[in-house]
Order: sequence, then structure tokens, then C-alpha cells
Amino acid sequence: MTPQQTQDGETPVDDQHPSLVVLDRDGVINADSPDYIKSPAEWHALPGSLDAIARLCASGFTVVVATNQSGVGRGLFTEQTLAQIHDEMLRQVSEAGGHIAAVFVCPHAPDAGCDCRKPLPGLLRQIEQQFGTTLQGAPAVGDSARDIDAAVAVTARPILVRTGNGRQTEQQFPESLRPEVFDSLADVADALTGRHS
Ligand SMILES: [Mg+2]
Ligand SMILES: [Zn+2]
Repeated sequence: MTPQQTQDGETPVDDQHPSLVVLDRDGVINADSPDYIKSPAEWHALPGSLDAIARLCASGFTVVVATNQSGVGRGLFTEQTLAQIHDEMLRQVSEAGGHIAAVFVCPHAPDAGCDCRKPLPGLLRQIEQQFGTTLQGAPAVGDSARDIDAAVAVTARPILVRTGNGRQTEQQFPESLRPEVFDSLADVADALTGRHS
């Protein structure tokens, strides 16, 4: 955990650039599993998450996914299988009326020494490069401390959800350092789109 505090992450919207929102995958969009998600059939959306993505899109957000998938580096599944899993995710999202603009993956094992495995900021930096913008103040939603720490590292707006590991993660942060917390991605979408739940 990074004992680092940010100022209020809100920044004025710049019309020149897309309003990005970064989502972790496992435990935020789909149910996580200690045995990893190793096939499209094992990918199950969490209740309300697909509709939440659709609502974010309808409000003008560009939704991108940033996910650690060390199962590739550990040899549990291939990059090809991972691509099939993501095809299934994109298909279900689009069926719900939403769109994921890009999926950024760290496929490396924890001991590989890469710079993209969250909590390191490399994956989020890749997003900034691809979209030609900064993530400063952009909502970055996750269920684990590494998601929050990566968001803090790029001065994004860290948001924790209580799905996946979220309830445990919430307890890991002292109250003074706790990020914004919502019960689910649906509640995050409500907050970001100005709808009251
Ligand atoms: Mg997660
Ligand atoms: Zn990596």
C-alpha cells in the first residue's frame, strides 16, 4: 500500500480529450475466482455491472479496462484464451448497450519484474499514451489495494467497490487514507452520472 495522499482528484473536464474511466476487471465487472478466470465460460458478469458500463458510456465516458492477468505468466492460460475471454466480455457489454474502448492487460507473473503489473503505474501510463491524455482526476475503479495504489500513482481518482475483494480491501486502509467507496459498479455509475440511488 502506498502511504500517499492526493488532493481532491477532481479536475475540470477538457473537451479536447475523452473523459476516461478506468475499470479493473475481476471483482469489478465480473466475479473473481481464486482459481483464475481461465475460459470464456468462466467469465460471469457481476449483477448490474454491464448496465453500469452502458450508462457510463451513455453519459459520455470512454470506458477502458486495466487488468492484471498473471495467469498468463504463470502458464495457466494463453494470451489467445485471454483474448477469447475478452471477446466474450466485450460481446456481453455491447449486448447491454455499452462499449469498452480498450482492454489493457499485464500478463506477467509477479516475479517477472515488469513495470505494468498494478500497483505499478505502467498499465495506466499505457492508457495515457494510447489516448493522448492524462488520467489526472479520472475515475479508476478497483476492488484491491493494488488498483487504488496504481490510481494514486498517476493522480487518478481512486474508487473502491465492495464487490470482489473490496470489503477486505476497505479494512486495509486507515480511515484517513480510504478512497471513495461504493457497494458496486452500479453505484459508481450512479455517482459519476449524477443519478441518485
Ligand atoms: Mg480485481
Ligand atoms: Zn506486466
